[in-house]
Amino acid sequence: MSNPNINILDTPIEFLKGVGPKKAQALQKELRVSTFRDLLFHFPFRYEDRTKFTLAKEVREEGQIVQLKATIISVEVVKGKRSSRTQAIAKDASGFINLIWFQGGKWIAENIKTGHEYVIYGKVSLYGSRKTIAHPELSLANEVSSLNKTFIPVYHSTEKLDRIGLDSRARRKLCRAILEKLPENQFQDNLSDTIKTKLKLCSRYEAINWIHFPETEEQRQAAINRLKFEELFFMQLRMLQNKELRKKKLVGAVFESVGEQFLNFYNNILPFELTGAQKRVIKEVRSDMGKGFQMNRLLQGDVGSGKTIVAILSMLIAIDNGFQCCLMAPTQILAQQHYTGIMEMLESTGVEVSFLTGSIKSKKRRQALEALADGTTDIIIGTHALIEDKVVFDNLGLAIIDEQHRFGVVQRAKLWNKNKRVAPHVLVMTATPIPRTLAMTAYGDLDVSIIDELPPGRKDIQTIHRYDPHRPKLIQFMREQIKLGRQIYVVYPLIEESAKLDLANLDMGYEYLRQYFMPPDFQISVVHGRMKAKDKDFEMQRFVEGKTQIMVATTVIEVGVNVPNASVMIIENTERFGLSQLHQLRGRVGRGAEQSYCILMSSYKLSKMGKERINTMVRTNNGFEIAEADLKLRGPGDMMGTQQSGALDFRLVNIIQDNQILIVARHIAEQIIEEDPYFQKPENSNLNKYLSKVRLRDRNWGRIS
Ligand code: ADP
Ligand code: MG
Repeated sequence: MSNPNINILDTPIEFLKGVGPKKAQALQKELRVSTFRDLLFHFPFRYEDRTKFTLAKEVREEGQIVQLKATIISVEVVKGKRSSRTQAIAKDASGFINLIWFQGGKWIAENIKTGHEYVIYGKVSLYGSRKTIAHPELSLANEVSSLNKTFIPVYHSTEKLDRIGLDSRARRKLCRAILEKLPENQFQDNLSDTIKTKLKLCSRYEAINWIHFPETEEQRQAAINRLKFEELFFMQLRMLQNKELRKKKLVGAVFESVGEQFLNFYNNILPFELTGAQKRVIKEVRSDMGKGFQMNRLLQGDVGSGKTIVAILSMLIAIDNGFQCCLMAPTQILAQQHYTGIMEMLESTGVEVSFLTGSIKSKKRRQALEALADGTTDIIIGTHALIEDKVVFDNLGLAIIDEQHRFGVVQRAKLWNKNKRVAPHVLVMTATPIPRTLAMTAYGDLDVSIIDELPPGRKDIQTIHRYDPHRPKLIQFMREQIKLGRQIYVVYPLIEESAKLDLANLDMGYEYLRQYFMPPDFQISVVHGRMKAKDKDFEMQRFVEGKTQIMVATTVIEVGVNVPNASVMIIENTERFGLSQLHQLRGRVGRGAEQSYCILMSSYKLSKMGKERINTMVRTNNGFEIAEADLKLRGPGDMMGTQQSGALDFRLVNIIQDNQILIVARHIAEQIIEEDPYFQKPENSNLNKYLSKVRLRDRNWGRIS
């Protein structure tokens, strides 16, 4: 303790009295706890409130956890056929309560002192009007020490920990032992006084003491508040610092000018006026790419907001500056569609566009790779086949990733390495709007552009919920729409676990529709994930060309498909889709000038969540609103998928409930990074010391695991 360089908190947990090597090993294995500090940073997940006493007459609810002070007035053992139980009656000034033991009752019966006042703690069960606590905790009222009249922390445990004497109660004692011995000066605060004063946060020392052993509700709140802030603040600070450093260090190609290709396309080819939002985003991208540092930008824009054109114009800037570009899409169909569309638009320009996916083989593949490596190709469009090592660019300057939510950080990094001289600029585009809180956490190190305006002349899609028995009416409606020259999607859910059943469903749906829509007047396409890519493309193509009027499909069409003449989207078993999926699917219609419809079919039997999702879809077309609703219904981890959910591992923070704290933390972190990115000011020395330590620990941890 006298050596200021050794912190007690770094002591291996093994050396804590009452732990030893065996328990230490279990703690390491079960909780990844290896030092005193680690143990203290396993916070309680709830508290037993021992500060308040409930009156017997206030006991009302099944499952209520209560503490009473009452006198035990009788105890009896009731013999049953196979087993016996022990019952007691306790009484306070307001009424009576029953206590019951199904095991160990004999010991209780012999030891309870009737006529004495007890502190009784436990969970209430109601048997009719009888209020009962089974297996309560009992202590003689005059023996309850002041220590126990507080909030008692309860820790998550595991079976193994319980077995070897490290249950919640034991861990409580260990935490107390560490905290009792810990001098305040061993607990360096990691926030500056300025921040603490400004936000009225307690010290770190207080926070750690109070989170384990609060004496009042205020202390508990103060501790939680402070620790949540700390968690979010340092996350933001690290992310923003990384971003800042990357910007300053990762030299990117400088695209100084917009040139011939860009101007020609803009003036002579672009078939419409750009929306204000599109113009703004292109400006942001252009400015990023002109600075000499690598761009890492996330482009968010609702389905149909016109991200593709932004991508094309950005690529033309790169080409004007002598660089190559790639556009990567998550599915074969989408990549193909981009390729066809972009080829068409750039036909007269002399820009060389090529295509690469996993299913392009042998000679064609070799040619594509060669043209890319020798610089003939200007733009290559494809699937993740593009990130394979064999794909070598002559001079990649801009990588665009469409529908980002399917790609992770790793893939992004792989693209960076495709140019060894200067890091290519990266633009990721997503059609699934990301709620602000998530964008700040999971994508906090990216710059964000938002297209918040749809091209003019779009009619709102009408969304309608119908139950299965209304299908005959639906058929009639479909006929009318087809007569008007429109095309229709009918989408079925398909999930891996029930793929067989789901496909059978789709087949049945197809057969049903065929009765009403028979050739030669009507043609139906079928597309599902189990088909060969070639067949899929064929069926898809027939629909795109208007040769079929109905497309029966699974969610393979979810992302990106663009058939402007299709104006009706019928979704079967709607309750089985997630909100963002439904929104994506709906986005397949409403792309032309016609009034579009989205019809959500379901049975009458709907879960609460399912109903809520359908209602949300009917209520709004706004992707950001839907994303917020989705976040509330599903939680952040599920939303991001596994790839990014690591960014959302918090000890205390709940991104949904704590978004106010997040916004404040982000704001303060931004200020600091702007004023003092290397933490050189004295007031930021606490931050600096802490971050260096954390980085070191992270690195060591990386080595161990
Ligand atoms: P998304 O953002 O979903 O990728 P797309 O880029 O596919 O949207 O654009 C959807 C449709 O809107 C396309 O048919 C496109 O040609 C059209 N579009 C894009 N921008 C405009 C605009 N400014 N004015 C009119 N139509 C536009
Ligand atoms: Mg798109």
